[in-house]
Amino acid sequence: MIRFEDVAKRFGDHVVLDGLNFTVAPGEFVTLIGPSGSGKTTILRLLMTLEQVTSGTIHVDGECLTHVRRGDRLVPADEKHQQQVRKRIGMVFQQFNLFPNMKVLQNLTEAPIRSLGLSRAEAEARAHELLDLVGLSDKVHAHPTQLSGGQQQRVAIARALAMRPDVLLLDEVTSALDPELVAGVLRLLKDIAETTEITFLCVTHEMGFARDVSDRVLMFDHGHIVEDASPDKLFSEPDHERTREFLSAVL
Ligand code: ATP
Repeated sequence: MIRFEDVAKRFGDHVVLDGLNFTVAPGEFVTLIGPSGSGKTTILRLLMTLEQVTSGTIHVDGECLTHVRRGDRLVPADEKHQQQVRKRIGMVFQQFNLFPNMKVLQNLTEAPIRSLGLSRAEAEARAHELLDLVGLSDKVHAHPTQLSGGQQQRVAIARALAMRPDVLLLDEVTSALDPELVAGVLRLLKDIAETTEITFLCVTHEMGFARDVSDRVLMFDHGHIVEDASPDKLFSEPDHERTREFLSAVL
């Protein structure tokens, strides 16, 4: 489903990712943990094509996101090709990123109408279903500024689901929330993970959540995978000293 092959990413002289290889299977929930600056968010941004690889390739659903073949050469893919490959990938951001000038309903219907070609009636019916799922049916006509952070994040999750993603990227989705709102959002994500076939790639500092929902956890340091293990193994008996050191600092 997702395959990173020998991916490097540099910003100027700063090497953020180097020789990175990993795969995520369909329906898997994979969490990326590791110290600040180790390159976790950059991986999600590469998948959303908000950044471009310096070298290496990324495949999504068997299609190459980063390159296209021209004769016997691989050349960087243009924006149109990238948009086509990533159309089934959704992302939920730390800062919600809702459209502030649109009501909740329109936040959920805009992209499905524009990008998936749904009629307004179809998009609105789906939006109502999703708002019901995230417990915000009564906020359908509210503006994002009238909602709490937790409610805004629920709308952002519903908006991502409205695009019927095969893959959902979660980038520290509870970091901007008041502590008492965190549990509700995590419970919602766990429910979605357990009841859908969606593949998740999640960056979080919530180690309890990572342990609870992940199929696999990848521990990063300096743009490398230090350890790739089941949550039980990684959190209870990690193989690597760097993982132990990181966990003892954050747990
Ligand atoms: P955190 O847990 O703090 O979010 P992270 O592991 O997600 O950290 P990234 O956000 O991927 O780390 O950043 C990795 C490194 O890349 C950091 O040193 C960061 O400063 C650098 N970086 C990220 N984006 C850019 C950019 N657009 N230009 C220059 N440097 C960048």
